[in-house]
Amino acid sequence: MNTFHELGLNQDLLNAITDLGFNTPSEVQIKTIPVLLEQDTDLVALAQTGTGKTAAFGFPMLQKININSRSTQGLILSPTRELCMQITNELKLYGKYCNGLNVVAIYGGASITDQARDVKRGAQIIVATPGRMKDMINRNLVDISQIEYAVLDEADEMLNMGFYEDITDILSHTPKEKNTWLFSATMPQEVSTIAKKFMKQPVEVTVGAKNVGSEQVSHEYYMVGGRDRYAGLKRLADANPDIFSVVFCRTKSDTQRVAEKLIEDGYNAGALHGDLSQNQRDMVMKAFRAKQIQMLVATDVAARGIDVEDITHVINYQLPDEIETYTHRSGRTGRAGKTGISMVIITKSEIRKIKAIERIIKKQFVHKQIPNGLDICQ
Ligand code: ADP
Ligand code: MG
Repeated sequence: MNTFHELGLNQDLLNAITDLGFNTPSEVQIKTIPVLLEQDTDLVALAQTGTGKTAAFGFPMLQKININSRSTQGLILSPTRELCMQITNELKLYGKYCNGLNVVAIYGGASITDQARDVKRGAQIIVATPGRMKDMINRNLVDISQIEYAVLDEADEMLNMGFYEDITDILSHTPKEKNTWLFSATMPQEVSTIAKKFMKQPVEVTVGAKNVGSEQVSHEYYMVGGRDRYAGLKRLADANPDIFSVVFCRTKSDTQRVAEKLIEDGYNAGALHGDLSQNQRDMVMKAFRAKQIQMLVATDVAARGIDVEDITHVINYQLPDEIETYTHRSGRTGRAGKTGISMVIITKSEIRKIKAIERIIKKQFVHKQIPNGLDICQ
């Protein structure tokens, strides 16, 4: 099956796909869409970031819900506000010819009254973070008793973030007969626990090898002295004038500090972390998408799942504490078949971590030197 038409999608969706310029379905879409269209089944899909998971659950959901009804039939839980907004926007694009479709995003940091009002107007699909969703349920602002399809997107990350109880609670308010579709990049113990708890004989779909990074990404590390990290970052930026990158830091304060320094030094940079207001975060993301910002300095939580096209470099200003997080970071680049570079700035004592990451991603890093002034001028 090489075309979206062959997957069984209806004309409204095919027209939207043409507008989006998607030529062929991705592997996870080929393996998921026909199954979900033809069967009322639970499903577990393992696929790395950037493989097109949103469409893999979004198209079947859009085709299966009853647009003529105003009741909420689809619920998508996703770990962060940014992801909620992104999924909502994608679904609106996918469903642009589905007349009467209403998709509402529900997340913290924005007015709950506004969101409740939007839901009340009749949302067939809600895309929510677990925290805010639970809040809305507790306050009786939302009715999820008619849910037919529940999606747990980025399930591994939601569980990493401590949403287990919220998810359990939310699902307990949905009908037993619904179908649950779980999507995850990795399959740690907690994810299989939740799958066993909430799913009945799910169809299992795996794309590529588990825990292995995208083939489109090459990995490089640069060794610096303890005090030269920031100077190294600037050199890397200078050597790549067309860079469009996410720069990962370990803490919110480091993220803020590095972004401020870059701006002071004349780079197009911006900070994205959890201490910013929702409005500030939206503005930064908007500027980044518009490429007014070339270097988005971010924490892992804030940047999780962000899908911005054409990211050329992921820079690990500091390595993450958890090695698995590296896979998520480097997955920000090399998306949708494009190539990307994941760079790591380390000090000598961190070389062990590089070896550990190589074992997980099953790829070798190239050890490169920070470019010097002459390299940059060439
Ligand atoms: P994931 O959730 O697996 O990380 P996304 O659903 O965010 O991936 O998709 C990554 C990017 O690829 C998005 O920009 C999306 O619009 C694009 N995309 C998805 N499916 C296709 C396709 N079949 N052809 C081309 N681009 C696609
Ligand atoms: Mg996704």
